[in-house]
Amino acid sequence: MIVIRKELCPQNHACPTLPVCPVGAISQQGFSAPTVDNDKCICCCKCVKSCAVFVSIGCCENGRDPRLA
Ligand code: SF4
Ligand code: SF4
Repeated sequence: MIVIRKELCPQNHACPTLPVCPVGAISQQGFSAPTVDNDKCICCCKCVKSCAVFVSIGCCENGRDPRLA
């Protein structure tokens, strides 16, 4: 899953990672820290590579989605 380290996000700008996600799993209310819908997430890890706020737990480590193993 992808977790959000809210404390690292200054929450003062539109999150540029929203259009990076190929399945639209990232959303943001105003300039708040984004959220990830892990039911939609396919573990492509583009968000993880884009910003340190996004952290993978058992999702990106093998370069693929462990749910597909
Ligand atoms: S998650 Fe990262 S890129 Fe997105 S708003 Fe926060 S600091 Fe900016
Ligand atoms: S890992 Fe990929 S699919 Fe999952 S939230 Fe991040 S960009 Fe979207």
